[in-house]
Amino acid sequence: MRIRILIVEDEFLISNLIREALEKENYQCICVYDGKTCADILEKETFDLVLLDVMLPEIDGFELIGYIKEYKIPVIFITAKSDVKDRVKGLKLGAEDYIVKPFSIEELSARVEVVLRRENRLQSKITEGDLEVDIDAHTVRKNGEPVELTVKEFDILVLFLKNKDIALYRETIYERVWQCPFMGETRTVDSHVQRLRHKLHMEEQIVAVYKVGYKYCSREK
Ligand code: CA
Repeated sequence: MRIRILIVEDEFLISNLIREALEKENYQCICVYDGKTCADILEKETFDLVLLDVMLPEIDGFELIGYIKEYKIPVIFITAKSDVKDRVKGLKLGAEDYIVKPFSIEELSARVEVVLRRENRLQSKITEGDLEVDIDAHTVRKNGEPVELTVKEFDILVLFLKNKDIALYRETIYERVWQCPFMGETRTVDSHVQRLRHKLHMEEQIVAVYKVGYKYCSREK
């Protein structure tokens, strides 16, 4: 599964520049140009990182970060101001980093990678309770015992583990795992999730969310 980055920037030129640079690094990028659209898309889709411009029409970046944090997505602020007050405010509001315009593509890529690593979005191994998942090797162990999963079941599990305690729409699950637009394949998603839940005995962790889809409930609670 590719890393998905949401770019919230109202200047088309800058937005395109960022998108092109990050796509070269094999990140999947989605661009939105105002705060309202950003809030809407967050409700429906999952992202691993948000690049957030501070000065946006209507809802600005400082206001938007509140919404984004609810989905536990790391944020890097993009600011035109080199004003120290703005950077401090951004970090206090919970941003992982900030980048000041104009910036070089190299700096942008480096900062994106550092944040993704720190936030474990690029991790190749995930341990969750008695579950060990090796993303590169495509293997899963439960209580040390290997569990056979299909490629799709495996991808769904990784998506759940990277979005713990967040309700995922069936549409989101389908689009991220099958990598094609959702045309109402509700039963496909349901049957794969059921099998995954059954194989891992995770009836209590993977729960259905009414009218939405599914949620993985973390064990730390
Ligand atoms: Ca702007």
